[in-house]
Amino acid sequence: MTGERSNMTCTEFQARLPELIGSGEDVKTHPHIQSCELCRALLSDLETIAEAARQLFPAVEPPDELWNQIESAIQNESSEAQ
Ligand SMILES: [Zn+2]
Repeated sequence: MTGERSNMTCTEFQARLPELIGSGEDVKTHPHIQSCELCRALLSDLETIAEAARQLFPAVEPPDELWNQIESAIQNESSEAQ
C-alpha cells in the first residue's frame, strides 16, 4: 500500500521527475510512465527541452581532466617543497 511506485499520483511523480532525471535514472522505464499517458507526454516534452538545453550548454560533465591537472599541480608543489 505504501511505497508502491506504480501507485504514485501524477503530482507525486512530476514532483520527483527532476530528481529522477538528475540521478540519471531511465525515467522511461518508470512504472508510472509505463501506465500514465499524461506523464509520458510530459516526459517527451521535457526531453525535447533537455535536448535543446544540451545544445545551448554543451559539456556540462564532471571535469576529470581538471582534477588531474589539480592533482599533478599539487604533486609538483609538494615535490618542490622537499
Ligand atoms: Zn501521470
